[in-house]
Amino acid sequence: MNQEKLKDLTSRFPLLHHLMDLEELAWFNPNATTLDVGLPYVGLDEKDVREATERLNRFAPYLCKAFPELEVTKGIIESDIQAIPSMQQHLSEQYGVNITGKMLMKKDSHLPISGSIKARGGIYEVLKHAEELALSAGLLSLSDNYEKLHATEFRAFFSDYSIAVGSTGNLGMSIGIMSAKLGFQVSVHMSADAREWKKDKLRSLGVTVVEYEQDYGVAVEKGREEAKGDPKCFFIDDENSHNLFLGYSVAGERLKNQLSDMNIAVDSNHPLFVYLPCGVGGGPGGVAFGLKLAFGDNVHCIFAEPTHSPCMLLGVYTGLHDGISVQNLGIDNITAADGLAVGRASGFVGRAMERLLDGFYTISDENMYKHLGELSELENVQLEPSALSGMVGPIHVSKDTTYQTRMGLTNKLKNATHLVWATGGGMVPTEEMSAYLAKSGR
Ligand SMILES: *Cc1c(COP(=O)(O)O)cnc(C)c1O
Repeated sequence: MNQEKLKDLTSRFPLLHHLMDLEELAWFNPNATTLDVGLPYVGLDEKDVREATERLNRFAPYLCKAFPELEVTKGIIESDIQAIPSMQQHLSEQYGVNITGKMLMKKDSHLPISGSIKARGGIYEVLKHAEELALSAGLLSLSDNYEKLHATEFRAFFSDYSIAVGSTGNLGMSIGIMSAKLGFQVSVHMSADAREWKKDKLRSLGVTVVEYEQDYGVAVEKGREEAKGDPKCFFIDDENSHNLFLGYSVAGERLKNQLSDMNIAVDSNHPLFVYLPCGVGGGPGGVAFGLKLAFGDNVHCIFAEPTHSPCMLLGVYTGLHDGISVQNLGIDNITAADGLAVGRASGFVGRAMERLLDGFYTISDENMYKHLGELSELENVQLEPSALSGMVGPIHVSKDTTYQTRMGLTNKLKNATHLVWATGGGMVPTEEMSAYLAKSGR
């Protein structure tokens, strides 16, 4: 972007100066509207989410066989909710802002199979592709018990096909593990920031890992190229995929049941705030979509990004979506939050969801590490740095009175539930976690 264009942009969007200075900031979206008004822009609806739920239910008997850790949930991949009262109190004191209501954490960090939020979307898209292939080959019908997929015959069938994906690490893990289990050939194109242990794990499963010196955007591009020349290769497009998005969205209805089992009310007097770490946008976007369908206007979704990779905030705030990258502003997209190291947001998710998201904020790597150590000490939960970005969301909501007034929330915060979506960390090796904790200063 040339100097003149940049100057024009920053004069129309003054917050960009602060973004370029890598300041931590929050932007509450003045265009946030009701579900009724916003839903038509998404291009997907309840029916699509229900279809995804039903597909996951069909696959449950197979998943249960293929991954014995899923026996307890009968093949359903879902995470627990944990209250974090000590962290809530600690953050209130640290920031001098009283967080009222309840503060909870959704532990996608500890999802079975791949230990991150990607165990939702990534696995779903692989399953959907496998189902389509098997159905059209006449090897499977919708009424079958899918347990049969866990057989040599099916592995041989799928081994004729390949799957490619570009990733900063966790998507590669979930796609790699799931595809390899079914028998597919799979290659994962990893950006420079991907952790070594994730690549090692995948290689040990027979996954082809291709490494790049460049960032996520390049890794995705290379994956796309590989698939283009090969009709039997299926590319999972993290920047545009509706299937990934729908795989994530199933979380909404399930969360509704979990909160109801915990006797936690969500209604017009009891708002639910959900804080979602955002990379390219598919994970948090899909979850937010599912939440909106489940809770309507009583849920408020807020995205968290690193100060060095605020791509979704940038895209939605300027309305330029995938037409602008953080690098265009001279921001380097270098962060320890590997799952969030994305310079250009998904154009699909930003455009689909911009009217249904209440706000966006940024957080420094330093503070992610700090909260990583605090959470470990106060609540005994160990996460990877990216997953800590949601932790300060309740601070932003609790202190922004303009936002509260505009949304009619002023007198309701005392009844609020703040849910921090902890997106990754459950599979981080012990030595790696010790290094994170050492960096936290705890
Ligand atoms: C991928 C990821 C996210 C964000 O998901 P996107 O779809 O990239 O926005 C958040 N946290 C972790 C740990 C991730 O791996």
